[in-house]
Amino acid sequence: MMIAVGIDLGSVAAKGVLLNGKDIYKTVIPTGWSPRDAGRKLLNDLLQQSGLTRSQLGGIVVTGYGRVAFDQADRKVTEISCHARGVAHLLPGANTIVDIGGQDSKVIRINEHGKVLDFAMNDKCAAGTGRFLQVMANTLGMDVGQLGELEAPGEHVTVNSMCTVFAESEIIGLLARGMSTGGIIAGLHQSVGKRVASMARRLGVKEIVAFTGGVALNQGVERALVQELGCPVVVLEDCQFTGALGAALTAAQES
Ligand code: ADP
Repeated sequence: MMIAVGIDLGSVAAKGVLLNGKDIYKTVIPTGWSPRDAGRKLLNDLLQQSGLTRSQLGGIVVTGYGRVAFDQADRKVTEISCHARGVAHLLPGANTIVDIGGQDSKVIRINEHGKVLDFAMNDKCAAGTGRFLQVMANTLGMDVGQLGELEAPGEHVTVNSMCTVFAESEIIGLLARGMSTGGIIAGLHQSVGKRVASMARRLGVKEIVAFTGGVALNQGVERALVQELGCPVVVLEDCQFTGALGAALTAAQES
């Protein structure tokens, strides 16, 4: 079996996957200001974890917004194709992918072979993305990873502002009026869920729906998405690594 590496240089997080037969190695680091350096670091981490050398690698495929800057890959592939491939591998039979990352959200329709049929993307506005949640978590004085466990859907407070900057001021105002933090978080999750679900409905949602990207780690957004879509969603165990896995599978097939 070919030893293959997939690298996903996202706007927030850089993810790497190394496939060696049945063994899978994964690593994630902040992308920082240089996607090229982040990619090189990922590659070194993966080689160190697996005990392999660079010359033993069969192929490297890079994806993600920073892919153009990375100079160690055999091929650059779009995130859409990589997510489709990753999901088709992890969840055969999936028809719709909702991917919410750091700076964009996407909905991708695929067929049973993982072929992309259609997609829609919001990359114009931070609302409905992971960055929006990072800014809001910061305003609430917590880490983005805490939002899911600290939300209180029963005390839901509606957040009306679509714009990230205005939403930040709105939250400061809601806190000043004594609204519960858990309720505000539930409102934030609902606003992300609503935005992404409306994009999904425009494209057409067909079950099975897979939820991927770093934001899928947040069970509050998962809850809101299920509510807004009106159907179940499957959060893949390695939701943040789906693009990197798809890139590694592409590398394995091509080399
Ligand atoms: P990108 O590929 O654009 O860098 P990712 O798919 O890696 O984006 O997702 C990054 C986003 O995931 C962050 O902006 C943050 O909102 C969210 N995130 C990252 N880690 C966690 C976590 N542990 N819990 C909840 N959300 C998280």
